[in-house]
Amino acid sequence: MMIVRRQTKKIRVGNVAIGGDSPISVQSMTNTNTADIEATVAQIRKLEDAGCEIVRVAVPDQEAAVAVRAIRDGITIPLIADIHFDARLAVMAMESGADGIRINPGNLGGEEKVAKVVDAALCHRVPIRVGVNSGSIEKDLLKKYGFPTAHNTDSLIESAMRNVRLLEKSGFRDIKISIKSTDVLTTVNGYTQLSKLTDYPLHLGVTEAGGLIAGTVKSSVALGLLLSRGIGDTFRVSLTRDPVEEVRVGFELLRSLKIRQRGPELISCPTCGRTRIDLFSLAEKVEALVQTMEAPLKVAVMGCVVNGPGEAREADIGVAGGNGVGIIFKKGEIWKKVAEKELIDVFMSELKKMEHEWYKSSVSAE
Ligand code: SF4
Repeated sequence: MMIVRRQTKKIRVGNVAIGGDSPISVQSMTNTNTADIEATVAQIRKLEDAGCEIVRVAVPDQEAAVAVRAIRDGITIPLIADIHFDARLAVMAMESGADGIRINPGNLGGEEKVAKVVDAALCHRVPIRVGVNSGSIEKDLLKKYGFPTAHNTDSLIESAMRNVRLLEKSGFRDIKISIKSTDVLTTVNGYTQLSKLTDYPLHLGVTEAGGLIAGTVKSSVALGLLLSRGIGDTFRVSLTRDPVEEVRVGFELLRSLKIRQRGPELISCPTCGRTRIDLFSLAEKVEALVQTMEAPLKVAVMGCVVNGPGEAREADIGVAGGNGVGIIFKKGEIWKKVAEKELIDVFMSELKKMEHEWYKSSVSAE
């Protein structure tokens, strides 16, 4: 199956392009108090290390809007200010150097206020995300179309397009759109319909998706279905967790669809009655290491020496252990046998060597 990407307009958030032929970008949002500059910068730096490409911060008050400047100075990825209701905060955040803003124009208090935000956005060359979600739909639209469901998302779509038209009326076209819902099928239906109506880039997401397992499953199903149909230009996986996990899930999602790859892919067996080592803790150690790596290697962690190498023969390097001995294998062939207690150290050092080789070859190729 080949994914054919929907053609969208290209916009820029700071130095990251969204839409058109640009890579589908992975975003996250901080959960620190934005006014606490030190904590917010520290969290964003961790997100940067995990590969996050655009970060959003909540701007609920003036203190947060002013803090945007110092935060911006302390990070390298583009920063988006998330604003509800208060047009002045949107203007202040842009004056403070925000690379983008997320608003729901219908909530800003009238066309005059929207026009002020648009003026500032044009002046600072800042794009706007029209961020509608199922909880913020205007009353008249709810009355006309009802609450969005898997079968009918007209209220959500009409709300987004109405807000887009409000910006266009003020001469603004640097727009991306999101229509988030907590329900997977409503999300899939809504974005599918919306993609037929507009060529503005789409920011995907399932709102309030849940904790690590439920949130990952909901986001992966909804975003996976949409991305596999070529819909979506950027996204955030929302989790009630450390936002770093959102970024990890985001890249795994892109990797699983063969859209983008960042860092090694970890393959590990589910274990069975043949397992003779503590595979869970071995897999955890290897996972922690590969999360800091960038080389696109396939790394396997298998529970037995008899079947492990064969079952993971596509892995560039793998480890399998049992009964006091472990083996390290490459492409299905045994490379080295070692005592189990030395297994992890020898494996890690070989893995690092392979990453170094990859790094050297990618630098010389540039
Ligand atoms: S690799 Fe070995 S331990 Fe793991 S599932 Fe396969 S047979 Fe079982």
